[in-house]
Amino acid sequence: MICYNCKGNGYVKIRFEAEQAIDQCKVCDSQGEINENKYYHQTWTEGTEDSLAVYYGPPLDSECFKNYKIHKE
Ligand SMILES: [Zn+2]
Repeated sequence: MICYNCKGNGYVKIRFEAEQAIDQCKVCDSQGEINENKYYHQTWTEGTEDSLAVYYGPPLDSECFKNYKIHKE
């Protein structure tokens, strides 16, 4: 499945103050895709207080979660 972190590009744009840099995507190792059978650390926020939820397992459907992020396995 498409890597959510880089949207399938294999790299991510990083903004640091006024500068913009391009970095390789560490979630998918610049492949643009992730293995849905692998386990990844994922986080999102939930509830009215936006408390952070942490999950380690196969990639979830990002559209079901608020502020969803995926991190390296
Ligand atoms: Zn990626």
